[in-house]
Amino acid sequence: MPLFSNAFEDHIASLIQKCPGMKTLRQIHGRLLRNHILSSSPFTFTLSKIISFCALSPNGDIHYAQRVFDDILQPNVFSWNSMIRGFSQVQNQSSEPIALYRKMLSSGFANPNSFTLAFVLKACSNISALSEGRQVHSHAYKYGLDSSPFVQTGLLNFYAKCEELASARFVFCDISDKNLIAWSAMISGYARIGMVNEALGLFREMQEAGLSPDEVTMVSVISACAKAGALDLGRWVHSFVDRKGIRADLVLSTALIDMYAKCGLIEKAKKVFDDMVERDTMAWSTMIVGFATHGLVDDALKLFSRMLDSKVEPNHVTFLGVLSACAHSGIVRDGRRFWSAMHDSGVQPLMEHYGCMVDLLCRAGLFEEAYSFVRRMPFPPNAVIWRTLLAGCKKNEFQDKEAIIAEHLLRLEPLNAENYVLLSNIYALRSHWDKVSKMRKKMKDNGVRVIPGCSSIEIDGFVHKFIVSDDSHPEMKQIREALKGISRRVRLSGHLPWTSSVLHDVDEEEKENALCEHSERLAVAFGLIKTRTPTVIRVVKNLRFCADCHEVIKIISKEYGREIIVRDRVRFHRFVSGTCSCNDFW
Ligand code: ZN
Ligand code: ZN
Repeated sequence: MPLFSNAFEDHIASLIQKCPGMKTLRQIHGRLLRNHILSSSPFTFTLSKIISFCALSPNGDIHYAQRVFDDILQPNVFSWNSMIRGFSQVQNQSSEPIALYRKMLSSGFANPNSFTLAFVLKACSNISALSEGRQVHSHAYKYGLDSSPFVQTGLLNFYAKCEELASARFVFCDISDKNLIAWSAMISGYARIGMVNEALGLFREMQEAGLSPDEVTMVSVISACAKAGALDLGRWVHSFVDRKGIRADLVLSTALIDMYAKCGLIEKAKKVFDDMVERDTMAWSTMIVGFATHGLVDDALKLFSRMLDSKVEPNHVTFLGVLSACAHSGIVRDGRRFWSAMHDSGVQPLMEHYGCMVDLLCRAGLFEEAYSFVRRMPFPPNAVIWRTLLAGCKKNEFQDKEAIIAEHLLRLEPLNAENYVLLSNIYALRSHWDKVSKMRKKMKDNGVRVIPGCSSIEIDGFVHKFIVSDDSHPEMKQIREALKGISRRVRLSGHLPWTSSVLHDVDEEEKENALCEHSERLAVAFGLIKTRTPTVIRVVKNLRFCADCHEVIKIISKEYGREIIVRDRVRFHRFVSGTCSCNDFW
């Protein structure tokens, strides 16, 4: 027989809920304990309220919750859920919630409900615990919770976070009531790992299903376009935003600036920027970085002064923009000025800023200064910085430093093929063939695999990917034919292939063929087949542009009368009538 009425218990529960903080909670809890109220069995409800307050309220105390929880002989599912959720909130990166869930199952007193599974899945996503999450997935079937929208959304987010998109798709197909959140989760998941066609395909599906996307989804889609350089789709998405009257807030507008800049349409990016009513640091910085990657140094630096005039505080992204603008154009004086301006505005230089300065000094031929700059860095330089120095070494022939730099680089990144290729090329340039073969042996011994060059081009809303000497594209035969024609015209114009950028032990003819099949050239050839003037051919490459392809594409732009824009890992190259916007400075 319960000693107290339900009304009394409800009263206590509402007192707990209204607690301003732990002090009051402790007082209530203490009074209940002193009066032996909590020892009567119906009060598990009150206890679970105490646990939930301590574990979940922003003014709570998870450790207090834990103590109360540990004293309960048979906690109900509500208390388990509070503890699991509470732990994943306070210790975002820990596996504690998963351990608690295991304890719950093995206790045998409480079965999980859909909330339990959703909370555990969230914890699994936080730490990308793939196999644990999969187990939870199987439990969803076991406990008949697989059609709960909470569980399904949890599974989708979990698989998207773990980049297990096949499984995510599987879950997705099972959802009968595809709500907006689940869509969005998939799109961001795809966008995050650069599976652009999938992300955009889903977006289209979403529209066919008559769902109207919100700003968050649009930002995901626009970033997917930016990543792939999918300009046509990006443009279409922009007009969709306008048509549907979706509010272009700061974040959305900034995403659009980034997308247009990354897709090579800097004028459009500027238009979006100019049309903004209100601009924050990120909006200004994105525009400055955009100008910088396009080699529009004056615009970048002018915008920076305008930003300062508008009393908007620059941050580390802003300075990255102005410093890289200087690096791309070799203006050492300005670069030094901004470097000290950054210190004056209290922005601590990060690795990337040091990288920009080293790049700037090396490009300007000031290798010695770059080297001592690196030696004075307050933290150990990363591989990118050593690699930049090494490339600077090549130009300036500082062979004594070269060995030291190479050692640092290979110690930091023994598995990065780019380092071995760079070193081999330097040795080959100096005809040190013994060192070249040593490099190749070392590479083999360490099991280093070369990252293949990969270029993509968007044709009619579909992104085509080309990987160096990969035959999988269905129209490869036509592309090879086109390449032959291109080679002929390029050779007739007097160009000799720079075969030194290919490793030395293939003979000259093979070397030339190897160059012809570089991914950027495959993509440009495909663009020539599939489009006509005045369509601009836009290609995105994952690595740095190869020197020979750069020359050849200059010639193509003249011979075929086409404007070609190639975005490589570092910047944009815009080829018009035989010249490139980078003025061969890259
Ligand atoms: Zn090439
Ligand atoms: Zn160029």
